[in-house]
Parts: sequence; C-alpha cells; structure tokens
Amino acid sequence: MTDLSGLPPLREVIARHGLSASKALGQNFLLDPQLLDRIARVAGNLEGQRVYEVGPGPGGLTRALLRAGAQVTAVERDRRCLPALAELGEAAEGRLRVIEGDALEVDERAEAGDGAHIVANLPYNVGTVLLVRWLESEAWAPWWSSLSLMFQKEVAERIVARPGSDAYGRLAVLAQWRSSATIALNVHRSAFVPPPKVMSAVVHIEPREMPEGVNPAKLSQLTGAAFGQRRKMLRQSLKGTPDALDALATLGIAADRRPETLSVDEFVALARALS
Ligand code: SAM
Repeated sequence: MTDLSGLPPLREVIARHGLSASKALGQNFLLDPQLLDRIARVAGNLEGQRVYEVGPGPGGLTRALLRAGAQVTAVERDRRCLPALAELGEAAEGRLRVIEGDALEVDERAEAGDGAHIVANLPYNVGTVLLVRWLESEAWAPWWSSLSLMFQKEVAERIVARPGSDAYGRLAVLAQWRSSATIALNVHRSAFVPPPKVMSAVVHIEPREMPEGVNPAKLSQLTGAAFGQRRKMLRQSLKGTPDALDALATLGIAADRRPETLSVDEFVALARALS
C-alpha cells in the first residue's frame, strides 16, 4: 500500500503553489480530510476500483480517493494545479494519472475505461452539462458504474425530486427513469475555501435496468414539451407532440393534469406509447 500519510496539509500545498481560488474556474476547495473521506465513501468501496475525477484542483478529494484504494484518472483545466498534482502522483506510486484539459472536451470513456466510477466536485454549470451527457448515454448500462457528484443543494434537489414538488422536472425524470438518484451527503458552505454563497450536496447515481421499448429521444422530447410549459395542462403543452394526446387517452392519463403531477413511470409509459 502506498503511504499518503506523509503528505503536507492541503493549505500548505495551496500556499506553496500559489493556488489562489479562481472565480472564473468555479474554484471552491475542500480541505478537511475527514469530510473528503466521507465524500469518497459515497462512491462505495473503492479498493482496487477505477475512478474518473473531474476537477481535482489542489487534490483534496483525489487524496481521499487514493486513500480509499482507488486507481484515479483526473482531468484538470487549471495548469497551476498540475505541479501539486504531480507531487501527489509521486506519493501515489502509479495510482494517479492527471490529464490537463477541459472535461467537456476529453474522451472520458477512453481515458477512464469502462466500469469506472465518476467522482467530482465541479463548478455548477460544468457539472450539470456533464451530468446530462452521462445520463443521456446511448448505451445502457452506461460505460460508468456510478456517479458521485457535488452540486449546489438546489440542483441536487432537482435531480432527486419526486412528483408534485416544485423541484420536479426534466432533470428528475432524466436522472430517475433508468437510474436511482439520492442525496448522499449535505455539505455546508463553510466547508469550502472560499465559501460559496449557497449550500451543497453530493448526489449519488447508479444505473438500473432500462425499461423496455422506450426511445430515450422520445422521452426527452416529451419531458421538454411538458415541462417547457409547466403551468399548462398536458392537453395544451403536448398539443404539438404527434400522437401524444391519443396516447394520454389510451393510458388513462387525464389531459387536464399538469406535468409535475406525472410520475416518472407515467412519463416512461407515454414515451413507450410514442416510441
Ligand atoms: N476537487 C477539488 C476540491 O474538492 O477541493 C476542487 C474543486 S473546485 C469546486 C472545481 C475544480 O474544477 C477546480 O480545480 C477547477 O479548476 C476545475 N475545473 C473547472 N472547470 C473545469 C473543466 N471544464 N474541466 C476540468 N476541470 C475544471
């Protein structure tokens, strides 16, 4: 086992490498090793597992993933972090590979390999784009084993939302129709340096079996139309979606309902009828 216990504290690494947090890159660093270990544990037992980490920054979460026994591939956009990550790579004796680049451009499947767990504490906008990309994977089961991602609390709540709540919408249906999605951990804003304005939460997502006979593009079109006009009844919002009103009648879903009252299963049944 590699010895990571001799590493200097993260504060010292940040000071020595001049890693003042950049707002433009959405940098809010986590420094508490116990909290970082708890976040790493959200992904399950990582001993001997491959992990793809996006945005390692000075390497706090990376250290926790390595402590958990993972083999880590990490993508970081900020070059200033690379020397600090190289030091960590030395201590990890071959269990850390760092790629300099933009996570939105990287061929992540090729870099991380099938079956990798994805773990990240990312800026909100990048995180949501990547989440949607990972959830819309054409192949299912997808190439990744699980997602453990830090989001603003409000976004985390939209991902795990249940029907009838204000937070329920396209993102909830996308995250739940063939995966399970839970909030695994709430993280107080004061845990970050510098502290962001809002609270955060780690969402854990695992793929489930995909319902049969459903075209994912149809489901996406349907939720887009329904939630695009969320105050309107389905009769109105699905008017422009061919055959949707007939499908509602066949399935016994009342056309005067609003989209947030439909369960994920009802959206799936509708999409199947249109597929
Ligand atoms: N993982 C570290 C932690 O938990 O302390 C840093 C988290 S900080 C919120 C986000 C990190 O993502 C920063 O290091 C930032 O440079 C990096 N980042 C931002 N946009 C990125 C992108 N498009 N591709 C790769 N890394 C990115």
